[in-house]
Amino acid sequence: MIVILSKDISPHDKEMARIYLKDRGFSVREQNFGDDAIIGAIGKGVVDIRELGLLPGVERVAATSKPYELASRETQSEDTIVTVGAVKIGGSRITVIAGPCAVESREQIRETAERVRESGAVILRGGAYKPRTSPYAFQGLGMKGLEFMKEAGEALNMPIVTEIVSTELADQMKDLTDMFQIGARNMQNFELLKKVGSLGKPVLLKRGSSATMEEWLMAAEYLLASGTKDVVLCERGIRTFETYTRNTLDISAIPVVKDLCHLPVIVDPSHAVGIRNKVAPAALAAIAAGADGLTVEVHPKPDAALSDGMQSLYPEQFERLMRDIEALAPVVGKELLRTPKTSVAAAGRPAASGVLDAQGKPDNLPIAFSGESGAYAEQALMRVFGDDARRVSLPSFKAVFDAALEGSVSAGVIPIENSLAGSIHENYDLFLRYPDIAIVGELKLRIMHCLIADERAAIDGISIVRSHPQGFDQCREFLNKHPDWQLEPYANTASAVASIAREGAVKVAAIAGEAAAKAFGLKTLKTGIETNPQNYTRFAIIARKAGDKAPVPPSLGSDQPNKASLVFSVPDEPGSLFTCLKILSDKGINLSKLESRPIQGRPWEYLFYIDVTLPQNADVFNSAIEELKAKAKDFHFLGTYRAAR
Ligand code: PEP
Ligand code: MN
Repeated sequence: MIVILSKDISPHDKEMARIYLKDRGFSVREQNFGDDAIIGAIGKGVVDIRELGLLPGVERVAATSKPYELASRETQSEDTIVTVGAVKIGGSRITVIAGPCAVESREQIRETAERVRESGAVILRGGAYKPRTSPYAFQGLGMKGLEFMKEAGEALNMPIVTEIVSTELADQMKDLTDMFQIGARNMQNFELLKKVGSLGKPVLLKRGSSATMEEWLMAAEYLLASGTKDVVLCERGIRTFETYTRNTLDISAIPVVKDLCHLPVIVDPSHAVGIRNKVAPAALAAIAAGADGLTVEVHPKPDAALSDGMQSLYPEQFERLMRDIEALAPVVGKELLRTPKTSVAAAGRPAASGVLDAQGKPDNLPIAFSGESGAYAEQALMRVFGDDARRVSLPSFKAVFDAALEGSVSAGVIPIENSLAGSIHENYDLFLRYPDIAIVGELKLRIMHCLIADERAAIDGISIVRSHPQGFDQCREFLNKHPDWQLEPYANTASAVASIAREGAVKVAAIAGEAAAKAFGLKTLKTGIETNPQNYTRFAIIARKAGDKAPVPPSLGSDQPNKASLVFSVPDEPGSLFTCLKILSDKGINLSKLESRPIQGRPWEYLFYIDVTLPQNADVFNSAIEELKAKAKDFHFLGTYRAAR
């Protein structure tokens, strides 16, 4: 049990609380936990929690049934997001740490850092002190190695993580590393845990190779109780009877531990399997099972590596793995956190929140979306700009365009296409009316619908269901099982949820995303009710053009754009569409979308929505655009941006 004391508790009241607990059979220990003072009470004592909560100076009592109280989900239901430098781990992102097993030289760590960063790793790993099974094996370069690693990390704007093997090294290492790693062999080195925890820096805690999940969580508890709040758990394989692989990756630990505890859980597939060509499948399985990230060993020349070469990926294999993770991420409702590929020069930029203006500076304005809290567009916004991005919800898509145009927001997030229901014409029409607004990025979000209702509601008692019409269409099979339900269309899915919360209705349910249920404190009666699970929506990030350039969201747009969107119509004469498409074809420009729709108010005239892959040579593209402008009618260029995978 944990007793959280108020910040201004008097010494007398603190003493009274201790006596109260001791008298009831607990052994007590006072601890500082961040800004909070807490008393940990351990033992089988009996206490009335309400009475304890009323003692002067006691702010809150967290009673858990688990021995790891600070780490337990019962104490904190929200996911902890750990911050390492400008990088975040946990929540809706997948964070990838990569680097060699050991730092071998200044050149080796620098080259590896460049390669893994190029592929999208955001934190650099490398051992300076290596706990090796044999005393004759390479033991690491020690402090020199750590200095090389810090140098590489700073040059490439990547925070670094390195293993600490002894309490004596802690003070020396703490100014050089951004995150400490406690290795599997030291998971239960309690003196080390206490020392490292007391430094307050983020810690990556590997699971001991024979540790139960509870022992692992108790080790995390040591770190938390000693002062740090930022602990990331790392499953790295456990010892079993199997000898083919180096260890056995305990995939089941991911969902179990994430359920028991609020800390992020990442996976080290390299030490888990120990065989290079088994690393990627294990890594993907870990992501599919809900891991918040990975730590992967990569070496520019694995065959010449001084340690763990057999399990180290070639940089090309790592690049392939990152692409696969990016494709898998939307399936598990997450986004791969990427470092911009080309922006080593712009390395000083802040973490993904806010938008950079045309000069590359953050403008600190909020980002707009349409709908209520918990809307899918808000989810998309948070994926791109971070969970803590400043945001405003506006009543309509048009209001988002207006806000972006007048400059009260730095960007807006709007849906443009659903993989099942097609383009959102309203937004394409708005692009035509707002020629100064451009698409500067895009994001693909998996849409998983839920049936949401009041806490007291039951599925049998529902008679009315509210949602956006697309919500109904996408859940048709489920709705067909309940033909007596009356369907009420709403402007968006989250406002349907809001209406239930406002009215306190118990016979009404809404179809929307889980985040909307959370935002309005409602219950999810059923999850995953969409007919086809391959249901994705593309969201566009829109912003006002500034001269030739549009501002870019750092997490998306700072990679080189590789896609462009255009809209045009064609004269009503033979071959006119063919002529336009031939311009693209002749220049070898790949068409990734072509859709036509009637132009409102001009019967039998059509607009074409076109997406193309940008060719390497910008001149080729620019000349194609000039030719198209001459041949097409109503030509609108919507923008160039980085395609979502
Ligand atoms: C490492 O990450 O280099 C390492 C030694 O890992 P583990 O402690 O999991 O064996
Ligand atoms: Mn290793």
